[in-house]
Amino acid sequence: MYDLPMKKRAIYPGSFDPITNGHVDIIKRSLKIFDEVTVVVATNLRKSSQKSWWFSPEERIELIREVFKKEKRVKVALCDGLIMDFARKNKVHAVLRGLRAASDFESEFMMAAINRELNENVETFFMMTGKNLFFVSSTVLKEVAAFGGSIEEYVPKAVWIAVKEKIRGADIR
Ligand code: ADP
Repeated sequence: MYDLPMKKRAIYPGSFDPITNGHVDIIKRSLKIFDEVTVVVATNLRKSSQKSWWFSPEERIELIREVFKKEKRVKVALCDGLIMDFARKNKVHAVLRGLRAASDFESEFMMAAINRELNENVETFFMMTGKNLFFVSSTVLKEVAAFGGSIEEYVPKAVWIAVKEKIRGADIR
């Protein structure tokens, strides 16, 4: 067991390609419990090889910074290694994960178990999805937007602007 700082710190890892109102809701609610939350753009996620990214890690970080520019307790970082190593280095208390549906449970349960093996000092903290956000995922929103649908209601303003620019430039990978 290592000494943890007095400040309660959590990390919220994910791909955030791009950040949605589902993510924003989890982050805002988590600030009622934690003093500081670092959103970690993880580039090593299993799905990364299968999925086509729209935004580079730098662009994703930029968008998250823009969304939380007035909230000093939200930090943003990039991680290309193991999240639990990142947690150890940064002395965090918890890893936040959001749950949308029962289908999220299986993989999250496995990940929490292996993460505990890797670093027993860090707790995985699950939060239920916000009201009317259970169907919101970056993947689904990108699909809707690619076919011309509006996703304005489900993403922060800066993200909606960036998504429209990507589509206009047909800069979709
Ligand atoms: P996705 O591409 O599925 O949106 P991410 O890898 O960016 O997901 O997600 C990071 C974390 O945020 C995961 O724990 C995921 O379950 C959670 N999350 C994503 N969208 C929502 C939502 N609408 N409500 C609650 N949690 C969510």
